Amino acid sequence: MIPFNVPPFIGKEREYINKVIDNRKLCGGGEFDKACAAWLSEETGSSVLMTPSCTHALEMAAILCDIKEGDEVILPSYTFASTADAFVIRGARLVFVDIRPDTMNINEELIEDAITSATKVIAAVHYGGVGCEMDRINEIAAKHGLYVVEDAAQCTQAYYKDKPLGTLSRFGCMSFHETKNFSMGEGGAIFINRPEDVERAEIIREKGTDRSRFFRGQVDKYTWRDMGSSYLPSEFGCAYLYAQLENADKITKARVSLADGYRERLSSLEEKGLIEFQHIPQYCKPNGHLFYIKVHDLEERTALISFLRENGINAVFHYVPLHSAPAGLRYGRFSGEDVCTTRESSRLVRLPMYYGLSESEQDYICECVERFFGGAE
Ligand SMILES: *Cc1c(COP(=O)(O)O)cnc(C)c1O
Repeated sequence: MIPFNVPPFIGKEREYINKVIDNRKLCGGGEFDKACAAWLSEETGSSVLMTPSCTHALEMAAILCDIKEGDEVILPSYTFASTADAFVIRGARLVFVDIRPDTMNINEELIEDAITSATKVIAAVHYGGVGCEMDRINEIAAKHGLYVVEDAAQCTQAYYKDKPLGTLSRFGCMSFHETKNFSMGEGGAIFINRPEDVERAEIIREKGTDRSRFFRGQVDKYTWRDMGSSYLPSEFGCAYLYAQLENADKITKARVSLADGYRERLSSLEEKGLIEFQHIPQYCKPNGHLFYIKVHDLEERTALISFLRENGINAVFHYVPLHSAPAGLRYGRFSGEDVCTTRESSRLVRLPMYYGLSESEQDYICECVERFFGGAE
């Protein structure tokens, strides 16, 4: 069976994990936590704090935006539950906006209609490492005095107009879950894109205390200053991740070339109008996080996924739209009409994509997809 995903293993992970054991320093804020944050910071030019997940990074962002009971958050319905959860647990109401059919990202032109006097945040999810229309979204946010938070969970080393995703708004949130390009099992990071937010973010991550400043010798005892939680990841995860970050360019290059390979091998099906590819605007540079095709409808998708499974290939689909899920009905409403969200999400199939997927496996996958559509010419 060709799996859908295999978490990356690059070689030095074991050595670094042993180092954590030898150091007798396992908790957050250690050598590898700092090394990962420094690497990400160097790569993007932003301030970065490592977190136990992207979900936790989003929770930190919600606290930093002072989300309170009754505030509204605008987001796409086509996203992972975490984007919604982080705001819902602070008492926010969700306002779902339809997506664009080409990138599966929030339709920026529908955002203004969803704004009310209670709106506080626009949560922009960059699906598959392809950036939302951030210039327009930031312009709308500035006009209405709103925060923008990027769910950049899938976006390490992905760019919009030459700028790294996650750095284009007030706060960016990234994931290093096992299913992402770089992994620490469970883990994430928050990008703090304005210097004045850094100190409060550090305090929130450290249970509301100024422990970080204490360790740097900036205060002589540490005190409980603000609300917070334990948003520090274990050193073990960071050690595993750091080995991959050191090889990030190599991993990204391999994934991008896999995505290109799929596109090339399946182009005849696309030319015949049997499938559609992810649209990549010319100013977006994704990172090979995923490769999907869109088929005619839900029925065809179900048939394709089971055909691939019978042939030893594990292909999957993505999000069932949140607005139609039980919690989505409870905590939110859809603004305007659902023209694209349900229709487009039910047509989408993700093909196996991971560092180490071989060319022959990819050939076989594409051959099977072609066979499903009646054979190659
Ligand atoms: C993976 C993912 C998350 C959640 O990341 P965790 O690190 O598992 O919390 C959130 N949003 C999107 C868009 C994701 O793809």
